[in-house]
Amino acid sequence: MPQLTKSAELFEKAKKFIPGGVNSPVRAFKSVGGTPIYMAKGSGAYLTDVDGNTYLDYVGSWGPFILGSMHPRITAALEYTLKNIGTSFGTPIEMEIEIAELLCKIVPSLEMVRMVNSGTEATMSAVRLARGYTGRDKIIKFEGCYHGHGDSFLIKAGSGALTLGAPDSPGVTKGTAQDTLNATYNDIESVKLLVNENKGNIAAIIIEPVAGNTGVIPAKPGFLADLRTLCDQEGIVLIFDEVMCGFRVALGGAQSLYGVTPDLTTMGKIIGGGLPVGAFGGKRKLMERIAPLGDVYQAGTLSGNPLALTAGLETLKILMEENPYPELERKAQIIEAGFSDNLKKLGLNYVQNRVGSMSCLFFTETPVVSYASAITADTKKHGKYFHSLLDQGIYTAPSQFEAMFISSVHTDADLEKTIKANYNALVESQ
Ligand code: PLP
Repeated sequence: MPQLTKSAELFEKAKKFIPGGVNSPVRAFKSVGGTPIYMAKGSGAYLTDVDGNTYLDYVGSWGPFILGSMHPRITAALEYTLKNIGTSFGTPIEMEIEIAELLCKIVPSLEMVRMVNSGTEATMSAVRLARGYTGRDKIIKFEGCYHGHGDSFLIKAGSGALTLGAPDSPGVTKGTAQDTLNATYNDIESVKLLVNENKGNIAAIIIEPVAGNTGVIPAKPGFLADLRTLCDQEGIVLIFDEVMCGFRVALGGAQSLYGVTPDLTTMGKIIGGGLPVGAFGGKRKLMERIAPLGDVYQAGTLSGNPLALTAGLETLKILMEENPYPELERKAQIIEAGFSDNLKKLGLNYVQNRVGSMSCLFFTETPVVSYASAITADTKKHGKYFHSLLDQGIYTAPSQFEAMFISSVHTDADLEKTIKANYNALVESQ
């Protein structure tokens, strides 16, 4: 069991100056209990905490580290930018064109892109654009999906909000809340019902095409295509929020995997290579409405920041050159099969969901296809499971409703160690 003396001391101090001691709620270990761990260093697939304990990392900074932490090429590129270019200009820079062009080449639906500083900014901006373009107010999202902490999205939201049992937030005005309608993931009839009840008033449907903030929930075959058809029929802007699954489940994101083309796509995480970044983009006729070309306002002091773009560009280049996706799939299959074996040996029927290198073991026997089925999971058992893994040096998300991410630097030995730890943790969690 790791000694966490220094982490505990730091957390006590942090609570005096930072709400809940953390700068993002799910980091506080509230749903799993115990002291959040203060990390001191990340390297490859490993993290070292301030007490000197090391952990095999399956959080990957909540998604960005598909190539592991401190990839030598990304670090070298960052050093180059720091020494030779600068940290910020507030003017256009050439790198902005390079990343926009590259993103348009990689992601099927992109014709134009704007860089922002977080996934939240990307989704907020995409929704504003959809509203400006259609002249309509309401949006449809899916219960349990998380699109960042913008007001419009904190209605039956997933991720940390769901983990803390607060999917709706005080501070969101009634007016805003009533413009966000929630449909059921994987249930096209629930979407059609809302569209019919609000005929001509829906600006956008926003969806995680692989839901990763309710645990992992894949879209059922045909569901995304049905959304596309409905949006075309009703003049609704279809937004794929690929902040998490983009560049993760395939280089071109879920839209390339499932062959469904959204009107707008929001991105983040991997395209920042570990630095703060987001982006949104899509069809030219929509993106041309963004200021200064058009009338829909959107801006950012640090948008297109050279350091963030450097890390993002280098990550994208490595992904294009090395195509790690078949290897990620192989590793993810090893984990899935190993966990399945363990469950079988123990007579447990818990559900595993997986798309490529993002997966989730749900502590429920109910197939997880939507928010309602996800919340049948036993979060107490998950908490015990989480702590047992931690004691064995495996760092996973401190929440039942988050994904486990495999990276290209996890070795077969790492996977084997994880499968053994999973067996022990399943035993200890019962
Ligand atoms: N959209 C999705 C699908 C996400 O998973 C997240 C964050 O986890 C966001 C949006 C918000 O991104 P950020 O935390 O960078 O604001």
